[in-house]
Amino acid sequence: MPMPQEEKTFLMVKPDGVHRGLVGEIIRRVEQRNLKIIALAMVTPSREKFDGHYPKDPAWIKRLGEKTLATYQKYGYDAAQELGTEKPEEIGPLVRNWLLDFMMSGPVVKMIVQGVHAVDMVRKISGSTMPSVAEMGTIRGDFSVDSAASANRDRRAVHNLVHASETQEEASHEISFWFTPDEIHSYKRTDEQLTL
Ligand code: ADP
Repeated sequence: MPMPQEEKTFLMVKPDGVHRGLVGEIIRRVEQRNLKIIALAMVTPSREKFDGHYPKDPAWIKRLGEKTLATYQKYGYDAAQELGTEKPEEIGPLVRNWLLDFMMSGPVVKMIVQGVHAVDMVRKISGSTMPSVAEMGTIRGDFSVDSAASANRDRRAVHNLVHASETQEEASHEISFWFTPDEIHSYKRTDEQLTL
């Protein structure tokens, strides 16, 4: 386990964040918090690359399906009629495909963020997955307007501006998946001594 101040996480500005000119705002919010960007690049990855990024674990895919089904039920839409199935394990792969389509819709900005409890901090700055419940003051709460209901009826992923690793294990997998060691930098911020 790294020291809390050395923890690293992976953050990606999704195509909607790039298209809306929010790259600087997102980086500003990370840096404002004394978290340090130690790797950064704009890229247009292939579908295969994104396919390797998002988990293939059946439990993760089923969870995506369950969330989508819950949205259909909440708003009274008929999943069987709209999607041809009501089984979360069949809806999950559909949503995963929508997600790959969305991530392919333009360039993304990938970065590694280092700092005190970076994984949890960056998740907190990002806010909840669904913009409708993301707290004000978070990236998703302040800037995204999408909803699962609208997205699912259009057969697309929710546009929520950023991806951020959820756990330290996920972060270390994603960091090595998206960056080579020579692309990762080491430096001290002038405020480090003052704040830690
Ligand atoms: P997070 O990005 O907050 O870690 P998840 O890992 O659950 O969230 O989902 C990955 C991404 O898939 C989300 O950020 C969102 O873009 C999309 N997504 C998740 N659930 C749904 C859903 N029910 N309908 C459409 N898109 C979804």
